[in-house]
Amino acid sequence: LAARLEGLGTTIFAEMSALAVATSSINLGQGFPDTDGPEVMLDAAVAAIRSGKHNQYPPGPGIAPLREAVSQHQKRFYDLDFDPETEVLITAGATEAIASALLALVEPGDEVVALEPYYDSYAAGIAMAGGVRVPVTLRVPDFRLDVDALRAAITPRTKLLLINSPHNPTGTVLTADELRAIAEVANEHDLLVVTDEVYEHLTFDGAPHVPLVTYPGMRERTVSISSAGKTFAVTGWKIGWVCATPELVTAVRTAKQFLTYVSGGPLQPAVATALALGDEYYDELRASLQAKRDRLCAGLAEVGFDVFRPQGTYFVTTDVRALGYDDGVEFCRMLPQRCGVVAIPHEVFYDHVEVGRPLVRWAFCKRDEVLDEAVERLQKAF
Ligand code: PMP
Ligand code: GLN
Repeated sequence: LAARLEGLGTTIFAEMSALAVATSSINLGQGFPDTDGPEVMLDAAVAAIRSGKHNQYPPGPGIAPLREAVSQHQKRFYDLDFDPETEVLITAGATEAIASALLALVEPGDEVVALEPYYDSYAAGIAMAGGVRVPVTLRVPDFRLDVDALRAAITPRTKLLLINSPHNPTGTVLTADELRAIAEVANEHDLLVVTDEVYEHLTFDGAPHVPLVTYPGMRERTVSISSAGKTFAVTGWKIGWVCATPELVTAVRTAKQFLTYVSGGPLQPAVATALALGDEYYDELRASLQAKRDRLCAGLAEVGFDVFRPQGTYFVTTDVRALGYDDGVEFCRMLPQRCGVVAIPHEVFYDHVEVGRPLVRWAFCKRDEVLDEAVERLQKAF
C-alpha cells in the first residue's frame, strides 16, 4: 500500500454492514433507505435500458437532459444560474465528485480545512491528492461551527475549504451567520471551496439549506457538489454532479475523466426525470424523514442515551456514556451480538479521536416498524 494511503484501512461502512449481515442485525449504521424512491424515476430507468439508447458510454460531461435538469434544480431551489453546457458535470456519485475536485485542485502539501467529524471519504480524497487535512471540530451539544477555530485553522498553506452541510454525521445545518463567516474567510484568504450538499433536501423544522455559493464572492471560488442518492433513495445508483465556473468544472473533469470517464448511462435520464418532480415530492420526503427522526430520537432517549437531535441528514448522534459505556467503537462492535442492532461509531470521523470516542450515530431512513423493532431490542438489552 502506498504511503499516502496508510491508515485508511477498510471503511467503517463496509465493516459495519458486513457485521449486520453476518449477525442478521437491523442495520442503522450505513445510511441507506429501506424503501424505493419515486416510481416515475424507476420506470424511467427501466424504459431507458429497454430503449437501447442508453446502454453505451454517455457523453463525458453527462447527458444533456440531466445537466439541464441539474441546472434547473439550482435555479428553482436557490435562484442560481449554472450553464448546463459549461458549468455542470455529472459524476459517479458525490464521492467521485469530491475525490476529483481534490485531485484537480490540491497540490501536494496544500492544506485542506474540513469540519470534523468529517465524512470518511474526505480523509481518503485529501490523502490521495497529497494534501494535508486540517480539522475544525464541531462539538456537542449543538455541533455549531466555531468561527474562531475556523479562522485559527487557516495558514499560508491553506488551499481549500471542504464544507459539508447538512452535515454527516452530526446533522448540523449551517446557519446564515456561519455561512457568511465561512465566505468571509474564503474571500479574505483567497481560498477555493468545495461544498458537499448531498443532504440538501433533508432538513427539518424549517431549517433552510442555503448553498454557500450564494454568498458574495463565492461564485468564482466554489465547487458545489450533490447527488441523487439521498434525495431519491437510490444510494446504489451513484449519480452525482458538480456545479461551478467553466474553469473549475474543466479542472474537476480533467481528474474525473481518468477515474471512471463516465457511469450510470440509463440512470442519468431517470435522475433527470426525478429532479423535475413537483414540490410535493420534496416536501413529503422532508416531512416523512422528520417524523422518522422524531420517532428514533424519542426511542433512543427512552433507552437512556443522550440524544443530539439533528436539523438535517438522516442520522442522529447519541452519547453512550449515559448508558455506562465510554468507547463508541467498542459499543458498536458489541451491539450486534448483544441485541441485533448495528450503529456507527463517530470516532472514525475524527482526527481528535478523543472528542468522538463516546459518540455513536444511528440512521433513521428506515421503515417505522424497523425503527420500532430496533428500539425494542435496545430497550430489552439496556
Ligand atoms: N457526502 C456525504 C456527506 C455523504 O454522507 C455521502 C454518503 N452517502 C456521500 C458524500 C456520498 O455520496 P454518493 O453516494 O453520491 O457518492
Ligand atoms: N454516506 C453513507 C453514510 O454516511 C454511507 C456511504 C458509504 O457507505 N460509503 O452512512
